[in-house]
Amino acid sequence: MPDPRQLLLDARRVVVLTGAGISAESGVPTFRGEQGLWRNFRPEELATPEAFARDPRTVWEWYHWRRHLVAQCVPNAAHHALVEFALDRPGVRLVTQNVDGLHARAAYDVAALRDPTPALPLELHGNLFRDRCTSCDEHGDHDLELGDEGSEDTADLPSCSACGSLLRPDVVWFGEMLDPAVLGEAQRLAAEAEVCLVIGTSAVVHPAAGLANETKRRGGRVIEVNPEETPLSAIADCCVRSSATEAIPEICRV
Ligand code: NAD
Ligand code: ZN
Repeated sequence: MPDPRQLLLDARRVVVLTGAGISAESGVPTFRGEQGLWRNFRPEELATPEAFARDPRTVWEWYHWRRHLVAQCVPNAAHHALVEFALDRPGVRLVTQNVDGLHARAAYDVAALRDPTPALPLELHGNLFRDRCTSCDEHGDHDLELGDEGSEDTADLPSCSACGSLLRPDVVWFGEMLDPAVLGEAQRLAAEAEVCLVIGTSAVVHPAAGLANETKRRGGRVIEVNPEETPLSAIADCCVRSSATEAIPEICRV
């Protein structure tokens, strides 16, 4: 098996694709773990346009719970190591499926010393802390309080300051399309990368899971960091079976 650190040192262009596993050690539950459950709902039952159309209050309550949970978490050693890696190496770009904002928070941790911009990730699935209007183009990063839990009334759910329609979290739900511009940029980065470093994703959610295949198809190498085997393991040139905080500070050391 090739040495992952050497593969990264030898590559000029690297794309790093992260999933929920990189934030697990910060205390953010993954969807496929037991702790991902909220009131016995599975995320697949809540993170859908159909669930929101049927019962926006329950979906908003779940997002509200997740916002509070994630707000109490902090970036871990893997997030920070990736910031150093991206700031040190101009050819490194981060792409994330996560909506928790922890990559950006890690990048801003160095803001007093360095410009964090090169370490900000492309967010494929949006951001938990942003809302958008269900009718117009309005976006915002307010975290509005909901009214009494359990009320049937939607009048006190977050509404758009421009047109008054219901707001929704600015995330991509199951069954929805990714923003074509964001996906196109991620596909370009994956195609041009000599190495795709995939961290903490079960690699079953498409099209994000296909990005590593794109690197591979163009002759690049794939490194997987995940304590468990995934569908991607079969095409990876190198599988590191460790947690993100054990593996990343070592293999991405600058
Ligand atoms: P997933 O929940 O399907 O899979 C998590 C993967 O991380 C698993 O393969 C697991 O083996 C691995 N893992 C667990 N602990 C790890 C650790 N300490 N270090 C490295 N790997 C570890 O996550 P996914 O593939 O990202 O897909 C879930 C979808 O749901 C994503 O599209 C994402 O948008 C969303 N989601 C986001 C968050 C977040 O923002 N933190 C959390 C849950 C789900
Ligand atoms: Zn609006």
